[in-house]
Amino acid sequence: MKLNVNRSAVPAKSETPKVFECGFLQLIAFIEGKGVAGESGMIDAETELYGVIGNPVQHSLSPMIHNGAFKRLGWNAVYLAFEVKNVEEALRGIRGLGVRGVSVTIPFKTEVLPFLNKVEGLAKKVGAVNTIVNREGKLIGYNTDCDGALEALEHKIDLRGKRAVLLGAGGAARAIGFGLKEKGVPLIVVNRSRERGQGLCKELGCDYLPVSSLVRMKRRELEADIIINATSLGMYPRDGVTPFPKELLKKGMMVMDIVYEPLQTKLLREAQEKGCVTVDGLEMLIRQGMAQFEIWTGRKLGFGQIRKDLRRALAREDTKTHSSGRKMGKR
Ligand code: NAP
Repeated sequence: MKLNVNRSAVPAKSETPKVFECGFLQLIAFIEGKGVAGESGMIDAETELYGVIGNPVQHSLSPMIHNGAFKRLGWNAVYLAFEVKNVEEALRGIRGLGVRGVSVTIPFKTEVLPFLNKVEGLAKKVGAVNTIVNREGKLIGYNTDCDGALEALEHKIDLRGKRAVLLGAGGAARAIGFGLKEKGVPLIVVNRSRERGQGLCKELGCDYLPVSSLVRMKRRELEADIIINATSLGMYPRDGVTPFPKELLKKGMMVMDIVYEPLQTKLLREAQEKGCVTVDGLEMLIRQGMAQFEIWTGRKLGFGQIRKDLRRALAREDTKTHSSGRKMGKR
C-alpha cells in the first residue's frame, strides 16, 4: 500500500497521538516535495522510518544529517523529529510501528534506559543512551556522544600525555568523561553543582574543582593541555557568557566547546585570540550522528559534506534568529 499524500489522511490534531504530531507534519512537508526517499524518489510501502525523540526538537539538526545521508546514498528512508511528552509511550510506538531507529536527545537520554531491551556496554557505564536501534521489536540502546567527542578531539590532538579540564557534569560531560578515562587522560571536573560534580568524579576516579576555585586560580597554577566545555553556558540566548576565565587560556592549549548555537562561542573566540587550537560543537555533533547512521545502516558517512550542509543551515537559522529573536532548540 502506498502512503497517502493527502492531508486529509492525517488524523485531526485531537486524534493524533501526541508523540507523532510533530513527525506527521514533517512527513507531509517531505512528501510535498522537500525530500526524496527510494530509487523512484518517492516514499513508498518499503520506506524505512527513523527519527529523533526529544523535547524540544523543532530545530534539531539531526534530520538534516540523516535525511541528507539517505538522499545521497539513495537509501529508501526518512528521518523525522518527534516532540515527545511521554517517553514510555513513544518507545511503545517505535516498537509497534516498526520504526527502525531513533536518536535520543534532551531530556530523555537517561529516562529511556528502563524501557529498552538491552543497553550496550559504554552506554550502560555512562548511564545515558543517545541512539536506539530496533532489531525485530527489541530496542537496543547505544551512546555515540562519547566516541563523537573523542574522535573530534583526536582529529586535532594526540591525547597521549595530555591533561584535561572538563567543564560540566551533565549527560554530555559524563559521556566525554568516560571517554577520556578510557583513553587514560588525567582530568579535573569543574561543575556548578558540587554534588553532581563530585558524583561524576567519584565514578571517574578524578578530582573535582569548584567553579569559585577555578575563577580565583592563577594561570601558572593550572596544569592542563585540554579544556572542554560540556555545559550549556555560552549557548544562545546566553551567548555573551563563557564558562572559563580568559586569563587561564594559554597559547597552544586545545579548547573544545560542544555548544554549537552559536558555532563561534565566546569561549572559542577568546581561545583563538590567545592562540589556542579550537574545536567547535559541530565536530562532535556530526561524528556522533555518523556513528548513529553506521549502527542503523552499516554505512559510513563522509564528514565534509555533512559539515558543509550544517554550516549553511546554521547560518540561515542565525539570520532568522537575529531578525525575529526566535530561540533555537537543541539537538
Ligand atoms: P545537561 O545534562 O542538562 O547538563 C548541563 C550542564 O551544564 C550541567 O553540568 C550544568 O551544571 C551546566 N550548566 C547549565 N546551566 C549552567 C549555568 N547557568 N552555570 C553553570 N553551569 C551550568 O545537558 P547536556 O546534555 O550535558 O548538554 C550540555 C550542552 O551540550 C548543551 O548545550 C547541549 O546542546 C550540548 N550538546 C552538544 C552535543 C554535540 O554533539 N555538539 C551533544 C550533546 C550535548 P549543574 O550540574 O550545576 O546543573
